[in-house]
Amino acid sequence: MATPMPETKGKARAGAAAPASFMKSLFSGRLETGLVFPYTRQDGESRETLRLVLESFRSWARERLDGGAIDRAAVFPEAQVRELKELGLLGLTIPEEYGGAGLSITSYCRLMEEICHYCASTCTIVGAHLGIGSKGILLYGSEAQKKRWLPAVAKGDLLAAYALTEPASGSDAASLKTRAVWDEARRVWVMNGGKRFITNGGKAGLFTVFARTEIGGEDRISAFVVTRDLPGVSTGKEEDKLGLKGSSTTDLYLENVPVPKDNLLGEPGRGFKYAMEILNDGRVSLAAGAVGGSKEMIDRAVDYAKQRRQFDRPIAEFEMIRDKIAEMMTGTYAAESMVYLTTGLAERGDVDYSIESALSKIVSSENAWRVVNHAVQIAGGNGFIKEYPYERYAPS
Ligand SMILES: Cc1cc2nc3c(=O)[nH]c(=O)nc-3n(C[C@H](O)[C@H](O)[C@H](O)COP(=O)(O)OP(=O)(O)OC[C@H]3O[C@@H](n4cnc5c(N)ncnc54)[C@H](O)[C@@H]3O)c2cc1C
Repeated sequence: MATPMPETKGKARAGAAAPASFMKSLFSGRLETGLVFPYTRQDGESRETLRLVLESFRSWARERLDGGAIDRAAVFPEAQVRELKELGLLGLTIPEEYGGAGLSITSYCRLMEEICHYCASTCTIVGAHLGIGSKGILLYGSEAQKKRWLPAVAKGDLLAAYALTEPASGSDAASLKTRAVWDEARRVWVMNGGKRFITNGGKAGLFTVFARTEIGGEDRISAFVVTRDLPGVSTGKEEDKLGLKGSSTTDLYLENVPVPKDNLLGEPGRGFKYAMEILNDGRVSLAAGAVGGSKEMIDRAVDYAKQRRQFDRPIAEFEMIRDKIAEMMTGTYAAESMVYLTTGLAERGDVDYSIESALSKIVSSENAWRVVNHAVQIAGGNGFIKEYPYERYAPS
């Protein structure tokens, strides 16, 4: 039995305390079954809205979203992003009062899953824009900041990006060196530093940037909205990547950027906490994308196994092929279950789902590796030929 779960309609969970966590409890030896049983599911109205969104996306994507062509061209898919904007999908999770559709994280993840069936680059572009790039404004922005930026973000006129990583600080993100110094005379934060691997970097008009600041005599990280039009903001060349070739990934350079006082997000000094909380949603949506890619690989592998004949029969009749397909199915079912268990927890609004989100990302992306590997093996020699889609579905 499933519990109906209302849409949050974009309700911000800013600063919400995290009184309970299923996984953290488990690590301390407590099994909080009440948090995960019964498995949550969307209510009827939300499901119907999502069905319509997915239907309109699919009918567009079948005609217009050729992931293979986008990857071969290895350039940002301007036309497709413009059309996604026209479909309203670049504002899917932005609340209605700021011009978006106000859908929940569950609906958003279902769309990410669907986009990844067609094109992982496009999925990454949408994920960076909605999942992490604009999320900080949604969660921690003041009403004035939301009114100022979210309508353009929701329309897709202002593409958003999230800038945490630096050349010398990756996993150890808290060691970042970008610094913003308060200039009392000009009443601006003067920002200097450089960010690395920024998704949507070459195209974004708005960056959520994390920088060191001196707050009350202490060295603390704060979060800022930095727009491309500010003097001293520039981006580097496009990275030539192993996959996701249509998405933009660049450095971001910040040279004496005068960041207005009103661009500080939330409370000064709480930027690192914000950065991690934003990633909770980013991680689970990436996991949803990996589930979508895995499902696509399963479909392709099953079709191939049914049509390819060896030893006078379809290879689908061989036990070892069936074993691979069974492993692909069970792994993907488990990953999908984790993703939507996590989004269900996220939508409760009173639960800490940070560990569940990180686990979803690991399990879904590692499962996707196995699924793609099996699909390549099932395709035999064809699995090694670029014309087939397998290479594009290997997760990064
Ligand atoms: C395509 C792409 C898009 C990206 N988009 C963005 C973006 O939009 N915004 C952004 O801010 N960043 C982005 N990133 C950066 C990404 O978040 C970092 O690459 C990631 O955080 C890892 O940092 P790193 O590359 O410096 O690896 P490192 O931190 O140098 O890690 C190298 C290896 O060491 C391991 N390692 C590190 N610490 C430990 C430890 N304590 N114990 C065991 N193993 C450890 C890591 O798991 C990894 O295997 C993107 C990266 C890529 C490739």
